[in-house]
Amino acid sequence: MSGKNTDYLVLVNDDNRLPEDFEETVEIISVENSFGDKYQIEKKAYEAFLRLREDLLKNDGIQTELISVYRTIAQQEEIFNRYVDKFGLEYAKTYAARPGHSEHHTGFAIDVGIVSDGKLARKIEELLAVGGLFEIVQKKLPRYGYILRYPKGKEAVTKIGYEPWHFRYIDSPEIAKQMTDARMCFEEYWDNKELFI
Ligand SMILES: [Zn+2]
Repeated sequence: MSGKNTDYLVLVNDDNRLPEDFEETVEIISVENSFGDKYQIEKKAYEAFLRLREDLLKNDGIQTELISVYRTIAQQEEIFNRYVDKFGLEYAKTYAARPGHSEHHTGFAIDVGIVSDGKLARKIEELLAVGGLFEIVQKKLPRYGYILRYPKGKEAVTKIGYEPWHFRYIDSPEIAKQMTDARMCFEEYWDNKELFI
């Protein structure tokens, strides 16, 4: 756990499993949201989230809270199986990655809920219902080194449905901005890396 050789641009998706021994290069800390829920998250990703959160609270009156962050492979297995039981395999594959293939294993991915009327939206149905507010949140991501990981219109590339709440820390506001301006998703960044600073 040094944080020194942390690869913030690691690509984890259906084709790319979390690299072996990746966890050893990442500094994971324990944190709590305002509702007392405890999470684990990579240190710099958390610091950047706190700055984003403050900005949204102060300037937009939007209260964001972490609702899911770091997951072990065993935890992902549990979630995936729960989705399969509840909604079937196709739905599970749309909203949950296979164990070992979720970027929540990196510690850099955050699912963010929005508080409305004192209630924190957490479930997919609730999150989809506050959809419009996420657009305001999404506009501010790049300046804090975050990207919208599964954008609308990129489902064929990411193989994941639009998730307005799932953000990925990449540690570089410059690359995040360039990617967003070019309307590229993270897979497309990897395929066009030579175009980036
Ligand atoms: Zn997520």
